[in-house]
Amino acid sequence: MSALKKYELPPLPYKNDALEPHISAQIMELHHDFHHKGYVTGANAAVEKIEKVVKGEVSGYDWAGIVRNLVFNLNGHRLHNVFWNNMGPAGSKGGGKPGGKLADLINLQFGSFDKFKQIYSELMKSLTGSGWTILYYDEESGKLTFTTVENHFINHIVDLPVVLLLDEWEHAYYLQYKSNRNAYLDAWWNVVNWDDAEKRLQRHLR
Ligand code: MN
Repeated sequence: MSALKKYELPPLPYKNDALEPHISAQIMELHHDFHHKGYVTGANAAVEKIEKVVKGEVSGYDWAGIVRNLVFNLNGHRLHNVFWNNMGPAGSKGGGKPGGKLADLINLQFGSFDKFKQIYSELMKSLTGSGWTILYYDEESGKLTFTTVENHFINHIVDLPVVLLLDEWEHAYYLQYKSNRNAYLDAWWNVVNWDDAEKRLQRHLR
């Protein structure tokens, strides 16, 4: 049996300032080094707590609180892992339009990329409070589908592979965009790494 491992904070796949001017280096640094790290630490602590309960080392524990804490931190970790890779520097890896099978599906379901962008932007801007907008691929229907996720887990569709996601928590934009979240959401299109989204889709096409 292989050894049990702890969750680890992966390095960003680019430099802190790689997404400027759309997302500032200061935001990327704090977002990754503080917020994402916090979820990794929290996920490890939650797992450790569960292990102590299993070993009978804790009395008076609260399962509802323990698992909520686990899901909050573990989903926080896993969502950010995808989020970093879903983006890239504007003009090289980021921005433009999707190609490949993702473009085919978008054209089939929405008629054009511009129509998809309009609908998806409306969805992004409809989220209230902290959360995510997520584009999934549903193998059962052969279609793209999407949702907004509140917090890190409410309204999440189970077991559908994520193609593309966007962090809409205040820590993702406030230092730069203040209360103008829509400006951040509009700017995000410039750093979308469509090649990464295509790769995630390709793993699940038959
Ligand atoms: Mn975040």
